[in-house]
Amino acid sequence: MSRFFSEKYASLVPYTPGEQPKEMKYIKLNTNESPFPPSPLASKYAKRESEKLELYSDPECRDLVKTAAEYFGVSENEILFTNGSDEILNFAFMAFCDGAHSAVFPDITYGFYPVFAELNGVPYDEIPLKDDFMVDVNAFCGVNKMVFIANPNAPTGIALSLDDIEKIVKSNPDNIVVIDEAYVDFGAESAIKLIHKYDNLLVTGTFSKSRSMAGARLGFGIANESLIRDLNTVKYSTNPYNVNRMTMAAGIGALEDSEYFINNCREIANTREYASKELEKLGFELTPSSANFIFAQSNKIDGKTLYLKLKEKGILIRHFDKERIKNYNRITVGTYEQMDALISAIKEIKEELI
Ligand code: PMP
Repeated sequence: MSRFFSEKYASLVPYTPGEQPKEMKYIKLNTNESPFPPSPLASKYAKRESEKLELYSDPECRDLVKTAAEYFGVSENEILFTNGSDEILNFAFMAFCDGAHSAVFPDITYGFYPVFAELNGVPYDEIPLKDDFMVDVNAFCGVNKMVFIANPNAPTGIALSLDDIEKIVKSNPDNIVVIDEAYVDFGAESAIKLIHKYDNLLVTGTFSKSRSMAGARLGFGIANESLIRDLNTVKYSTNPYNVNRMTMAAGIGALEDSEYFINNCREIANTREYASKELEKLGFELTPSSANFIFAQSNKIDGKTLYLKLKEKGILIRHFDKERIKNYNRITVGTYEQMDALISAIKEIKEELI
């Protein structure tokens, strides 16, 4: 830390993103990216837009907003696009939390929530997941704090039903409830349809996973008009051109090509079921995932050893040091071929160790 670094950030522990190694070619199953390229239409629109980079992007993202509003069945004033969904999550902390308005989320969830809370000087509580790693729905009812729930949750992959989500939203009428739907397209039900019923609900989403656009950085928030106006106040006070021209164009292409999107989501869900069964045959215990990743522990190999041994064999998965989940690993669902390579490598490791 330099002697100039602001004291307000002195104790900030930044988020640790998954490894993005350059030194060798790994089978990358560690950051929940899609194994498929973006829709050809998304790439085509982005390429066309790359010839206009001398001009600023549209701060209102009008063309994309129009396409997305139609796609999601909301009005154009009820949606806001951001630089990945990390940005909308940060905007939500900035807009609706402060020293006097604290936040709450599960103890095991997306690791960025506590970082955003610290960054924005927001006190927060963590409510433990139940023993089976389910979100304790009742514990989030009437908490009188701003609620952040990832649905499906990460890294467990477990989804809550829309009824449970509604219960949480309804019981916290004077606090915003953020439902982070980064992984919703792989098997959970979206809460977007509830935004006209509850003025305290903000649903966030991303094009990083199911639409194969992690590198383009496109996220969004959907909520009633007045929440979107507040979030826009924060956006226009931070970075009005937060979505670049190519990403905006690619986003339109991705939404237009819904067939490609639906097929990819189906393929990932099928591959997840296949790989889950294979891992269970090898003695792994899995949480019931509705996401594009599997959360698994073995009764024979501890989590960290498995992560390191797979890395030696050129396969990257995600290991977390957090005490409660340190025997687990989060494995992104790749192609069938990639999952077969994973299963073979695990068999080899088991033989080497026993
Ligand atoms: N929410 C959750 C639960 C995530 O796992 C991620 C991905 N790291 C994000 C949000 C943010 O993704 P992005 O910024 O790529 O939209």
